[in-house]
Amino acid sequence: MSESDPGFQAALEEAKQGAREGGIPIGACLVDKNGKVLGRGHNMRLQKGSAILHGEMSALESAGRLPASAYKGSTMYTTLSPCLMCTGACLLYEVSRVVLGENKTFLGGEDLLRSKGVEVINVGSKECERLMQTFSSEHPEDWNEDIGEDGK
Ligand SMILES: [Zn+2]
Repeated sequence: MSESDPGFQAALEEAKQGAREGGIPIGACLVDKNGKVLGRGHNMRLQKGSAILHGEMSALESAGRLPASAYKGSTMYTTLSPCLMCTGACLLYEVSRVVLGENKTFLGGEDLLRSKGVEVINVGSKECERLMQTFSSEHPEDWNEDIGEDGK
């Protein structure tokens, strides 16, 4: 698992698309055990005024309704350490592995995922860090709102 992984590249493309839309630059891609992309998406909080469409939630939503078996052995690629909402969604659907871009900007539910048997891999992407540093320095209030903080 590395940054060159097609699933990770798809998540990164989604993050960049989010940045182009003026949104929070976090992308995700859900890939099944055979390497097939089930869904992909990016954070739509600002674009849609959404309380729940983080990158991972957008990817799950774009995958649509699936039987439980479809998630077996699947990997959620995400450009940023998943928050507790997205961690919970990955646990609900029993995603097998989470590959994340970085956790310096934000550290989410990685320990919780591991405690439930989910494999967690941090690829340490400088590009993901840069995307988030740029956004959070230009729009600190929007970033704080995304992670449920009041920004003081
Ligand atoms: Zn999230």
